[in-house]
Amino acid sequence: MPATASRLSVFTESVIRGTTRLANQHGAINLAQGFPDFDPPEEILAALETATRGPHHQYAVTWGAPRFRAALAKKITRFTGLEVDPDQHLVVTCGSTEAMMVAMMTACNPGDKVVIFSPFYENYAADAILSGAEPIYVPLRPPGFGFDSDELARAFDQKPKAIVVCNPSNPTGKVFTRAELMEILKLAEQHDAFVITDEPYEHIVYPPHEHVYLSALPGAFERTITCNSLSKTYSITGWRLGYVHAAPQVIAQARKVHDFLTVGAAAPLQEAAVAGLELPDSYYEGLTELYTRKRDLFLGYLRQTGLPFTEPQGAYYVMLDISSLGFETDTEASEWFIKEIGVAGVAGSSFFREPVNHLIRFHFAKSEETLKAAGERLLKLKDGRAQPG
Ligand code: GLN
Repeated sequence: MPATASRLSVFTESVIRGTTRLANQHGAINLAQGFPDFDPPEEILAALETATRGPHHQYAVTWGAPRFRAALAKKITRFTGLEVDPDQHLVVTCGSTEAMMVAMMTACNPGDKVVIFSPFYENYAADAILSGAEPIYVPLRPPGFGFDSDELARAFDQKPKAIVVCNPSNPTGKVFTRAELMEILKLAEQHDAFVITDEPYEHIVYPPHEHVYLSALPGAFERTITCNSLSKTYSITGWRLGYVHAAPQVIAQARKVHDFLTVGAAAPLQEAAVAGLELPDSYYEGLTELYTRKRDLFLGYLRQTGLPFTEPQGAYYVMLDISSLGFETDTEASEWFIKEIGVAGVAGSSFFREPVNHLIRFHFAKSEETLKAAGERLLKLKDGRAQPG
């Protein structure tokens, strides 16, 4: 039998998706893979019903259905203040997952280096490697998960072609400040690198923290490739709708990558999602309030366990420090949580370049009922009542 490509041996299957499979097998509450268990807004559901009876069952325009791109352009302008031409600045993709791969393949030649902050969402290293690029890492350190300016400057001394900025960050919950983004931008300018941003949690930011769009900073647009998704904002992770937003010269190339990868995102779903993009500002305020309540509820339970955890400024993830439980590895711990506690979380090591072994990532994008059930189960950790055998 011929050997498969060697680049595939450099990374593993997604630990997030693998944990979901194990959670389902054991009937655990799945707080591993981040997705909601509640419905999208009613407006979107109604539009989906209408779309199924419409003429939208064949390929849409490969870089995105015109109605969807027009609505998307308006929505991006509403929040960033940038002028967006739906015909020049956008490619609609199958989720931010495809958007990131498109961005990476558009920006990088084989052998180029890409700066990735660690911890990082596990797709980024795979995206870089599949594009023939080499990831180089800069640590984000707890508790605030800021970066060290000298370390970042040294990474740029290696002449990377791009840097990836996930903001708000998965898994740390960090929201990058304007000053931090300016610093990243300045280095990218000095070394003529792209900044690839991944911003699916743009509307899940806890006050007083604020989301700053890197693409809208002075002088940033030309070198910023923004990847984003509708998954988290409208609770439609299964629809796989995302996009790349960038300068026309970049988009012209990104369209080709996207076309040959997937041809296009699902046509009827693009039609239906327009209803989401047209929701008023009050929807986004409601979303912040909803997630603030979920965060407070879930963190309340974690606090009672007595174990330390990260305080998210944005997104819907929290990393629980399980050092005191005495596991050899976090993979072992994650399995124990699934089987003995009945709650699934992702082994933190899958997000880190460094040998980190003491964190489990949980998410709280769940109904109050699910969060309470999970919280009650996690209370078994309190005062060492449940200890690994
Ligand atoms: N972004 C979510 C997470 O980190 C879901 C990822 C996925 O499986 N596509 O869990």
